[in-house]
Amino acid sequence: MLLSTKRLFLAATLLLLAVPVLAAAPPDSTAFSVEAATQHYLNSLTAAQKASSDAYFEGGYWLQLWSMLYGLGLAAVFLKLGLSRRLTAWTQRLPGKVLPTLAYIALYLLLAHVLSYPLDIYVSYFREHQYGLSNQSFGEWLTDDLKSLALSVVIGSVVVLILYAAIRRTGRRWWVWATGLVGIIMVVAVFLSPIFISPLFNKYTPLPAGPMRSQILSMARANGVPADNVYLVDASRQSKRISANVSGLGSTIRVSLNDNLLNRCTPAEVQAVMGHELGHYVLNHIPKMLIFLVLIIGLGLGLVDWAFHRLLGRYGPGWGISSIGDVTGLPLVVALFGVFTFLAQPGFNTIIRTQEQEADVFGLNAARQPDGFASTAIKLSEYRKINPTPLEEAIFFDHPSGHTRVLTAMRWKAEHLGK
Ligand SMILES: [Zn+2]
Repeated sequence: MLLSTKRLFLAATLLLLAVPVLAAAPPDSTAFSVEAATQHYLNSLTAAQKASSDAYFEGGYWLQLWSMLYGLGLAAVFLKLGLSRRLTAWTQRLPGKVLPTLAYIALYLLLAHVLSYPLDIYVSYFREHQYGLSNQSFGEWLTDDLKSLALSVVIGSVVVLILYAAIRRTGRRWWVWATGLVGIIMVVAVFLSPIFISPLFNKYTPLPAGPMRSQILSMARANGVPADNVYLVDASRQSKRISANVSGLGSTIRVSLNDNLLNRCTPAEVQAVMGHELGHYVLNHIPKMLIFLVLIIGLGLGLVDWAFHRLLGRYGPGWGISSIGDVTGLPLVVALFGVFTFLAQPGFNTIIRTQEQEADVFGLNAARQPDGFASTAIKLSEYRKINPTPLEEAIFFDHPSGHTRVLTAMRWKAEHLGK
């Protein structure tokens, strides 16, 4: 009670002191307006640029639905048309217990990939060219695609085999064990990917010497990030997109700036992006994201188990599936998980977007380049709608929209610079 009276008194005194000062301040016609500065940046896009970016991004909303439905269609081919049953019959002729299951999984992954080509080639090749975002010829695209197919068949088969071994040993609680296993596998994959997987697709080199490198490394040191963890990646092999990322875990963690960023952006813009990436690094976003992901996957697998058993009684005999441990049911597990990820997407987007917002604010404080950050946000609108409604941003955006980013930058500028 005493404390709050004291506080009230203090507040009243401050107010009395402040009021005359406020009243005495002359109106400042040259004051920096956050709203006007934000609008100025948004207006720098032409109507045609905005229309193209909106169309590209909004088309992506529908593609999420189409690819989920495509996945259900694929499951129908495997289950209703009997492809899965036939695969099981072929692979059962192989000797031993492990080999038939492994062969089924590898063949399923291969066939599912090939049967997805009509949608995949449209989405990641033709559509990217249509919007001028890709640098690849079809041959180059296919080479990259075949590399990832080989990876997914080799690594995926082993991972799914381990999961089926867990399912068969642990009964209805399989999904709890499977979640733990997926967690361990993900940690190992994230740890190894900068060393073994990313170099299969791109070349990672140290940043070239020069003033840019000195500025970037100095900012890295100022934020406790070792300088030898900053790389340049030749992303222009695949695309025209400006980007940068943090990958790896523990001793393999690194920040990679892509060459499009270095070639298409000013030093202030590169510093702004680098500040953002350092934010991901310093705020431990990768380990935190892994924890979220494992929890979401656990929830998904629990729901898959529930739905699988509801369908098993009715359709199991017709589809040739005897139990959840029967690998013939893999297409059903994949389809159900696909429906789950489709429904969970807004939640997942929000988790990522929240981290991205944290990194944005960290980056503004670290790089002190609000205009560099704002103009980069405008450049990113090549592939991300610049000014969505708040609801649209909450549901579909895994990064803050250009509008949100420019506004954040201009507010920061108003409060930190020019005073
Ligand atoms: Zn980010």
